[in-house]
Amino acid sequence: MRKMELQDRESVKCMLCDLDETQLLYVKDSFNIVRCKQCGLIYVNPRPGEGLLAEIYRQEYHQAYQGKDFVKLHEGEFKKRLFEERIKIIQKYKKGGRILDVGCSYGYFLEVARGRGWDTYGIELSQYAADYAREKMGLNVFSGDVFSVDYHDYFDVCTLWHVLEHMPTPIKSLQRIHRLLKKDGMIVIETPNINCSKAKKQKESWGYLRLPEHLYYYTSATIKQLLSKCGFEIIHTTSADFGSGATSIADRMGIKGTREVLLRHYRYLRWLRAILAWSRKISRQDEFVVICALKVERDSLRENDK
Ligand SMILES: [Zn+2]
Repeated sequence: MRKMELQDRESVKCMLCDLDETQLLYVKDSFNIVRCKQCGLIYVNPRPGEGLLAEIYRQEYHQAYQGKDFVKLHEGEFKKRLFEERIKIIQKYKKGGRILDVGCSYGYFLEVARGRGWDTYGIELSQYAADYAREKMGLNVFSGDVFSVDYHDYFDVCTLWHVLEHMPTPIKSLQRIHRLLKKDGMIVIETPNINCSKAKKQKESWGYLRLPEHLYYYTSATIKQLLSKCGFEIIHTTSADFGSGATSIADRMGIKGTREVLLRHYRYLRWLRAILAWSRKISRQDEFVVICALKVERDSLRENDK
């Protein structure tokens, strides 16, 4: 990336309370991560400008995955197992219908949902990933972001798996999702939890402080404020992880690149799965938060509210 593009920054106020009074928490990769003194929201400020963000997503997917089908295949296997667990949570509240996965990537979650009888749709910003989901997985995927899809009262469930923290205008995006959902529709969000035990211990070296892609760092409390502002009422909150227990043990032992090794051999090495299962039992499993919230009608909601 060119140096000039990295200098593309913009200052923002707290999106929840519109104040500009913050405390500096960390400096990472030349970005400041701050906490709002009023509401506790943690975010990057100043943050990458629009031009830089577009460039990040254009480059990231091409460099990270093109030509690496082997890693992708195994990452897919690994993620589908996790999504089997996640869809069980969804089905406690919604038995079926139309489901929209925002930021669906290669379509692994939608493939799992389709297998359980859901009518599946996806939205994906990366052209490469969207093409893959359409052509290789046979899924119905729109290119772009939530503003590229124009439906009203259409979906029963809308999912965001590790997408919210990337969104530069979360309130506008969630209000858009509110419009896309049917009356009593449900939004499901999974995002890193900056209040987790690992983040507190590792501070600025916590793996999910990922700059410049992750713009917001949520806790259960700040997600609750955000959702209520956008017309949603939380009905389920749970802690989760990414099967990261084994990788964190290996990290402590100083073994590098464990995640990649795990992904490559996940299918074949039964003992690795056993370690993973055991380590997840003993680990805190609070690195992510999974939240389900129902759409509530509110006359005061306007899509243009910031
Ligand atoms: Zn605030």
